[in-house]
Amino acid sequence: MSKFDVIVIGGGHNGLTTATILAKKGKKVLVVEKRKILGGIAAGEEFYPGYSTTGLLHDTSGVRMEVVKSLQLEKHGLEIDKHRAAVTILSKDGKSITMQSDLNATAAAIGKFSKNDAEAYKEYQDFLKRIGNVINDLMDNPPPDIDVKNLTMASLVVLAKKWMMFKGLGNKTMMELLKVAPMCVADFLNEKFQTDFLKAGIAAPALYGCYAAPRSPYTTINLLLWECASRSNIKGGPQALVDALQKAAEQASVEIRTGAEVEKILLDAERAANGVRLKGGEEISAAKVAASCTPKETFLNLFDDFELEYQLDYWIEKVRSRGTSAKVNLAINKAVKLNGETVEYARTGNSFDEMEKAFDPVKYQQVTDAPFLDIHIPTSTNPSLAPDGHSVISVLVHQIPYDFEAGWSSNAKKKLAADVLQTLETYSPGLAKAVVGMEVLSPADFEERYTLTEGHIYHGEHFVDQLITRPIPACSRYATPLAGLFLCGSGSHPGGGITCAPGSMAAAAILR
Ligand SMILES: Cc1cc2nc3c(=O)[nH]c(=O)nc-3n(C[C@H](O)[C@H](O)[C@H](O)COP(=O)(O)OP(=O)(O)OC[C@H]3O[C@@H](n4cnc5c(N)ncnc54)[C@H](O)[C@@H]3O)c2cc1C
Repeated sequence: MSKFDVIVIGGGHNGLTTATILAKKGKKVLVVEKRKILGGIAAGEEFYPGYSTTGLLHDTSGVRMEVVKSLQLEKHGLEIDKHRAAVTILSKDGKSITMQSDLNATAAAIGKFSKNDAEAYKEYQDFLKRIGNVINDLMDNPPPDIDVKNLTMASLVVLAKKWMMFKGLGNKTMMELLKVAPMCVADFLNEKFQTDFLKAGIAAPALYGCYAAPRSPYTTINLLLWECASRSNIKGGPQALVDALQKAAEQASVEIRTGAEVEKILLDAERAANGVRLKGGEEISAAKVAASCTPKETFLNLFDDFELEYQLDYWIEKVRSRGTSAKVNLAINKAVKLNGETVEYARTGNSFDEMEKAFDPVKYQQVTDAPFLDIHIPTSTNPSLAPDGHSVISVLVHQIPYDFEAGWSSNAKKKLAADVLQTLETYSPGLAKAVVGMEVLSPADFEERYTLTEGHIYHGEHFVDQLITRPIPACSRYATPLAGLFLCGSGSHPGGGITCAPGSMAAAAILR
């Protein structure tokens, strides 16, 4: 008799989601988390005495409301703002445009620079509205079962419904979607907009978690997925979600052990997963195991060499997860303005040429000295994260390679921080002098601290071939070729981001 029905490896937001859904269905669930704290990448941490972030990441616009509702997270203290957070797009010559959920206000801000672009933005938003249901249906549900050996009436009905939804777009929208989805995001946006820094800022999310630049094919589909999925905003940032999930898990009687690293997934004589062995030797049995760590970590590090079928190892090794992001957290001794404005979120990029140039060195394992940035100033809405009158700036730095040829030494990190500060000086002159402390996390640090294979922020690249059959066709519906072993983290459909989506869909697969 197993001690638990399910052991969930990893206490990030997806692991906690899986565990809580299962426990609410009466399963006896254990979460084992390697770090001393829960939350994985979403955990907020003090990075310098007296200065904290609300999470390593900051954008919470993709959290699935179905999960919030089903786990009653609002009862556990979660506060949802039903609008996306405003994002300010910065230009290095001092201009800025704030994109907010109020379409007319955004169009008016854009209209100060280009009447054409103001209209184009309205048309773009209208297109997103028209395709939203079809795109979200793809991302809010498990990938359809297209294995001809398993085709049942139920799976045919699912496929037929998807086709009907697609047809329901109408000819014009359907054709437009088919035309633009495979395009590179630069071509897509160049067809609509004229203002360079606006185009760069709109394009940025298409490149998150991608080994790509604006002129790389298929980047438009990433932008459409991101835009359609971004629906709300969590007050208090990712850590607030983690707190609510932890409370929901505890109320559902999930057992949680932190500082508990799994070193091996155990298999029985029939090669079905039946427990885990922790570092230190303790073995814990369970009827099923759900892994929220990366697919590469799960299959390549938590089994002995040659224990898995060659085919499985082979395809998992082929999953692309080349990290291209770093993080710089800054403790600042004053209030911060960017291009003269108080903002919470901002993006730089300036032009497709500059973004392409930032990516070029990545291909040759070198580091650009002009990265583009996603800037979050959490103290603008939550001053308690820093001493009175001080600020925290949390910068996600794009186009920084994991496999930097010279290695991520402390000097390399100092140079990265200096380049980021120099870029920030453009938007906030004098900022560098106000820095009292900082933390620099290279992609190699992500791997070490958060067990992110190759430092990839999404547990595996977001590209069309790795999105639907994610991470590989044999594991794309959360079950794996090993009976009793499931995947439930960002390496599974619909991918990375703070969404709770893979965790909730994996729980449904486990219950089935
Ligand atoms: C710097 C950065 C910025 C980001 N910014 C954003 C953003 O703004 N918006 C957004 O939506 N997404 C963002 N992302 C991506 C997003 O954070 C992740 O996709 C998501 O949080 C991953 O959640 P998860 O629960 O799937 O996995 P994780 O949070 O990675 O959790 C997995 C957990 O498993 C644990 N673990 C691993 N191995 C073991 C083991 N052997 N035994 C026990 N435990 C183990 C880890 O310690 C970890 O806690 C960002 C990511 C990074 C790195």
